[in-house]
Amino acid sequence: MASMKTQIVRSVSQMQKLSRILAAKGKRIGIVPTMGFLHEGHLSLIRSAKKSCDVVVVTIFVNPAQFAPNEDFAKYPRDEKGDIAKIKSAGGDIVFIPKASEIYPRSFQTYVSVEKLSEILEGTVRPGHFRGVATIVAKLFNIVRPDVAVFGMKDFQQAAVLRQMTLDLSYPIKFIVAPTVREKDGLAMSSRNKYLQTPQARNEALCLYRALREAKKLVTGGMTKSEDIRKVMTGRIRTICPSAEIDYIAFNDFKTLDTMSSVTSNTVCSLAVRLHGVRLIDNMRLK
Ligand code: AMP
Repeated sequence: MASMKTQIVRSVSQMQKLSRILAAKGKRIGIVPTMGFLHEGHLSLIRSAKKSCDVVVVTIFVNPAQFAPNEDFAKYPRDEKGDIAKIKSAGGDIVFIPKASEIYPRSFQTYVSVEKLSEILEGTVRPGHFRGVATIVAKLFNIVRPDVAVFGMKDFQQAAVLRQMTLDLSYPIKFIVAPTVREKDGLAMSSRNKYLQTPQARNEALCLYRALREAKKLVTGGMTKSEDIRKVMTGRIRTICPSAEIDYIAFNDFKTLDTMSSVTSNTVCSLAVRLHGVRLIDNMRLK
C-alpha cells in the first residue's frame, strides 16, 4: 500500500467502515496506538508494523481515562500537524484521531481491568492508570480490528498488561513489543522529555539510563541479587541527580511481571524517578 495517500479519519463510524473495507480486500491491518507528540520511538513502531502489514493505522488520542486528576492531562504536549507529517514520512497509511466526546460519551460506563498485572509498579503509583489504558486499547482494537498491534518496550508493564488483555479477551491480534529508541546519550525518548526545560534537568535525566547500564554491567560481572544491584543503582542516581526522588527500582519477569529476587535471563529492571518536577520511567533487560 506504499502508494496509498495517508488518510486522516476522525470519526469512529468512518474508521469502522474503512477497516471493514480493507479486511474484505484481504489487507493485513496493523495498529500503533499513541498519545501523539510523536518522536523517533513512535516512528520505529510504525516501521515495525509496516514490515508485516499492508496498512498501518496510527491512532492519536490523549486518553483522559488513564490520567489521574493530579496528573498532566491538560498540559500533555500536542502537535497534530507535526504528528501527521511524521506519520506520513514513516509510512503510516491511516491516522485515526477520534474525539474524546465520541470515545467517552456521557453515558460511558464499561471499563476493562487487567487485575494482577495492573496492581504493581506503575499501578501502585498511578492507581486506575492501566484500567484507562486497557479500556482505550480494547476500544481501539474493536474499532480498527487490527491483525497486528505494536507497542514499545519503553512502557514494558503496559505491554505486559495489554498482551494479557489481548489473550484474555481473545483478540485475534499478533502482539509485538518493539525496542526502546534512545537519544544519542542514552535518554529514552519520551513525549514528556519536553518537560525537561533546563540543561541541568536534561543532563540529570540521564541518571535512569546510567543506573540501568550500571545494573547490566554488574550482572555481566556476576552479581545476581536484585537487592545488591538496587543499592548500587540508588547510589548512582543520587550522585548524578541529588534531588531525584526514586518511586521504585524493580526487578520483574518480562511477561509475568513476577518479582525476581535474583536476576535470570528474562529479568527486566525498571525504574521510575521524579526529577526537576518531571516523572520519568525506563527499563532494561539485564541478561
Ligand atoms: P505514548 O504516546 O507515550 O502513549 O506511546 C505510544 C507507544 O509508543 C507506546 O507503545 C510506547 O511504549 C511507545 N514508545 C514511547 N516511547 C518510546 C521509545 N522511546 N521507544 C520505543 N517505543 C516508545
